[in-house]
Amino acid sequence: LALAGLLTLLLFINNQWHDAVSGKTFPTINPATGEVICQVAEADEADVEKAVKAARDAFRLGSPWRRMDASHRGLLLNRLANAIERDAAYLATLDNGKPYAVSYTVDIPNVVKCLRYYAGWADKWEGKTIPIDGDYFCYTRHEPIGVCGQIIPWNFPLLMQAWKLGPALATGNTVVMKVAEQTPLTALYVASLIKEVGFPEGVVNILPGMGPSAGAAIARHMDVDKVAFTGSTEVGHLIQQASGSSNLKKVTLELGGKSPNIILSDANMEDAVEQSHFALFFNQGQCCCAGSRTFVQADIYDEFVERSVERAKRRVVGNPFDLKTEQGPQVDQEQFNKILGYVSSGKREGAKLMCGGGVAADRGYFIQPTVFGDVQDNMTIAREEIFGPVMQIFKFKTVEEVLTRANDTKYGLAAAVFTKDIDKANYVSSGLRAGTVWINCYDVFGAQAPFGGYKASGTGRELGEYGLDNYTEVKTVTIKVPQKNS
Ligand code: NAP
Ligand code: MG
Repeated sequence: LALAGLLTLLLFINNQWHDAVSGKTFPTINPATGEVICQVAEADEADVEKAVKAARDAFRLGSPWRRMDASHRGLLLNRLANAIERDAAYLATLDNGKPYAVSYTVDIPNVVKCLRYYAGWADKWEGKTIPIDGDYFCYTRHEPIGVCGQIIPWNFPLLMQAWKLGPALATGNTVVMKVAEQTPLTALYVASLIKEVGFPEGVVNILPGMGPSAGAAIARHMDVDKVAFTGSTEVGHLIQQASGSSNLKKVTLELGGKSPNIILSDANMEDAVEQSHFALFFNQGQCCCAGSRTFVQADIYDEFVERSVERAKRRVVGNPFDLKTEQGPQVDQEQFNKILGYVSSGKREGAKLMCGGGVAADRGYFIQPTVFGDVQDNMTIAREEIFGPVMQIFKFKTVEEVLTRANDTKYGLAAAVFTKDIDKANYVSSGLRAGTVWINCYDVFGAQAPFGGYKASGTGRELGEYGLDNYTEVKTVTIKVPQKNS
């Protein structure tokens, strides 16, 4: 860390470190203190141009990457997973501000598992032979799409990087990745591992920089074949538009949410309270799938609110390097201000502030765990993504009513229901318009299971076998044969 203060970290293009063409740099900041950690080269359009050329060249017919056995692509991904596992103690650190213990025990193991999962797919992603009519032999090839732009957010810097790299590289694409301005450090360290484990030059290029410049340059680039984006719905619209007005590059989007978490009166109270707390407060509340609308059935509402407030008050906020810490700082000043703005709006619009609501430390971007009760569906805090440690609890009477209210949102990323009645659980989970439904649990992820959104929460699915589709062109090849036989 001391050394990092003297350094400027550079852009990773063609397996080499480059200054930005403009020579510009930007500071990366420790959100626990507000202090500058180090300077980072700031990519812009000219650097995107260099990176796309490198990725295109790595993808040319006959290149080492295109000639490589699929099993060897899998081997490289496995080696990358091993290197990340080896350096976990170092990687689980620095600029996101999340508790070190969480990064070390949740983020990194999931990164490693994701890369290994996709490593396994590399030589198992098979086409078909198809019995078409006539004297023909017909088969499909699963080909890589080509140069993939990948734009990722800051809330899970390492995990979002792995979710993007795993399927793209397993299927043989090349990558130009723009990482979030708040979290370039771990991504650049992973870049050094990509080189170390032997990926050919140009296969992965990693650019720290700003969204409206570097990010937008990727989204509108005429020689980028696909763009995968994770972040706000607002920017998701821009990415889709940029595709529409440039080369119609393929677009997959993983966007925001306002996910309903429904607690029926027969639920196990203790579990429901703890899981609902986790659903909202995990990762400082900075999760796209956060259970940010907690609907509680009327007959258990008072007890649920009381216990949730008591749990929120017990949440340990503080130094991310203290192993007892459950909640670190928000990622930056902008998010910190935005969240406090939502707290004010909740109070102004008449929600009942049950605990928290203020700043939790005299430096850094710490916010008190906050719970609002008596939240009404039309309030701003009921409709917009807060992305912070602010819980909204709503009261409902019937299952029909809560389904209608739960679905009354532009989003559809995730949802949950807590009940001991399997018939109710099935009914509610079928009725929810969301890409993921958890029953009696929350935020359970596996590299094997797809994740993505209905409605304005996105298009396409990441993870699992489904995640491969987003990085694959299916080519149908038909050969005339003298005479077919069944
Ligand atoms: P964001 O702007 O959507 O950031 C996501 C990524 O997109 C970042 O790499 C960002 O670059 C880039 N970007 C921004 N503007 C762009 C543009 N015009 N063209 C191409 N790329 C662009 O999200 P944010 O500003 O960090 O956070 C705002 C809100 O988004 C949060 O409060 C939260 O509600 C939501 N969010 C959702 C997720 C999720 O996992 N779905 C993750 C993060 C944030 P910069 O780093 O320069 O912004
Ligand atoms: Mg932004």
